[in-house]
Amino acid sequence: MTAIDVARKPWLVERLSRLLGGQPLLVERYLNQFGLVLSPHYVAEIAGAPPGKDPIFHAVGRCPVCDQPVSTWTVRASTQRLTTNEFQVVTRAEGTQGHASVNPVLYDVTGCQACLYVSSARSEFKSETGSDSSSPLADRVKKGLDGARAERETVLVEIPFESLFDRPRDLTSAMLAYQMAVRCEQVKVGFDVPGSHMRLASTRFRLATLEDLAGRTDSANETIAAALTDVRDAYSRTEDPRQAAPAAYLALAAAIRLGEASVASEYLQVLRGLEKTLQADPKLKSSLRWCSQARDLWTDWRQGQ
Ligand SMILES: [Zn+2]
Repeated sequence: MTAIDVARKPWLVERLSRLLGGQPLLVERYLNQFGLVLSPHYVAEIAGAPPGKDPIFHAVGRCPVCDQPVSTWTVRASTQRLTTNEFQVVTRAEGTQGHASVNPVLYDVTGCQACLYVSSARSEFKSETGSDSSSPLADRVKKGLDGARAERETVLVEIPFESLFDRPRDLTSAMLAYQMAVRCEQVKVGFDVPGSHMRLASTRFRLATLEDLAGRTDSANETIAAALTDVRDAYSRTEDPRQAAPAAYLALAAAIRLGEASVASEYLQVLRGLEKTLQADPKLKSSLRWCSQARDLWTDWRQGQ
């Protein structure tokens, strides 16, 4: 968090300072961990009120690229009540049943220290005990990822790898980790790995949500613009309505956020068309939610204009 980011909401920083007894170190820790959002739960956590039960556990897996052991932290899903934004990314978490509040997005990114492969798909990191559910990466993709390693190293110029993936994880570390994950997904898109366009988009939407939390609206808009291109690519590449519907929904959500009315309207029409196909087949009905969510988003936006 830079001084410029903080300067965008001086009232919030002032209120935080009052709530945290005028202690600048606590204010700094709050802003690094939670960004420019005010929540009594977060204030209690930073102020050292009873933090609650630990919702985070340690897991060990194997890197899908170099097969070295990877150590990772995960937030137990059942311990948090989550609020998500229009991109389906968590913006706020509240601990349940006595657990401390931790935003799982901060921890939903895992990296391998040996080859610097970073991904927001935890299922890619084979568990040491359980079976491997993900399909293995082809050798040419692994080679491509290895060749692009230097690009990922540029992210690590100021921050050592361990501190990006340690706990507690702050916004700055998480944003850098997601930037590395974006670079890895871009390589996979280059090799046309199945599902990589959507995975790249989803990684960018998470990065953008963290950038918003940090008050970096301009960076978030740039990230969302890039994600819009990814979801449009993903949409144009699939014939399966179950994949087309979420891609079209996210294209509409991104276009609305960026104020691109004609693109938003284009995907609203796409979803209207898809709705008929989805209704016709009982097996496809669960994907109808994308159509209704898109309609709600569109209506809210038009009413707000
Ligand atoms: Zn590795």
